[in-house]
Amino acid sequence: MFRTTVHNDGGRQNQMRFDLITIFPEFFSGPLDHGIVRRAKESGLVEVHVQDLRVFTKDRHRTVDDRPFGGGEGMVLKPEPLFEAVESLLGHGVGDALKPGADDPKTAIVLMSASGKLFQQEMARRYAQLERIIFICGRYEGVDERVADHLATEEISIGDFVLSGGELPAMMIVDAVTRLLPGALGNEASSQNESFSAIDDLLTGTSHQSQVTSHALLDFPHYTRPAEFRGWGVPEILIGGNHAEVAKWRRAAALEKTLRNRPDLLGRE
Ligand code: SAH
Repeated sequence: MFRTTVHNDGGRQNQMRFDLITIFPEFFSGPLDHGIVRRAKESGLVEVHVQDLRVFTKDRHRTVDDRPFGGGEGMVLKPEPLFEAVESLLGHGVGDALKPGADDPKTAIVLMSASGKLFQQEMARRYAQLERIIFICGRYEGVDERVADHLATEEISIGDFVLSGGELPAMMIVDAVTRLLPGALGNEASSQNESFSAIDDLLTGTSHQSQVTSHALLDFPHYTRPAEFRGWGVPEILIGGNHAEVAKWRRAAALEKTLRNRPDLLGRE
């Protein structure tokens, strides 16, 4: 069940293990079997393990949920199976005082939650430095709060909307993190020049300071052949082949698009 450590040229640990704890294990067959994530699995860059939460129940009915204290709608995921599942994955118990991941800075235990902290590209970069991420996927009305308080090392939301389960959110994070692992993308530069990377990266296109995120821009617009499609052309500069001019145009276009679609990234509303 344990990974082997693989080092790349920079000596940086670059293998990642994802564990997904869910009541719907079949949910994950398919979405993680294409493109970059699939290749990363095949090449051993990432391991993905899906854990059926019901395996960690002790009663005949394999109960994972119960009614909320205080009354009200719906059902709540019980704490016991979730603690047992995480403890079993980690291979050790959870003390009363210490969160299980707290003594291991390379492991995150992430509770998916609409009321969590907002997941952003900067967080994906941080996660890409870890060795292991255990995702807890909620369902129904949510998860007993003691899981957030005493089991998860973080409580994360993928956006200001409510979904019916944590499976899709967890998969989104697996995808966002995997493509940042060294060797996951065909072209290493691609994850440095895309949306939410630093302005300076876009300026030079050569920066290695992927940590610089003070001002993030959206990606610049991309075009491919045909140069004329239904009467709509492609910006002349891109066809000209002057690299400096192309870089200038891309930066201006990225700025313009950020202002139009996400002024908040530039401190404007
Ligand atoms: N009653 C909760 C919603 C529960 S939705 C509330 O009002 O906040 C059921 C589960 O879906 C949650 O436990 C969580 O795991 C997942 N979920 C829903 N929306 C999410 C979001 N925006 N980000 C991450 N997980 C989410």
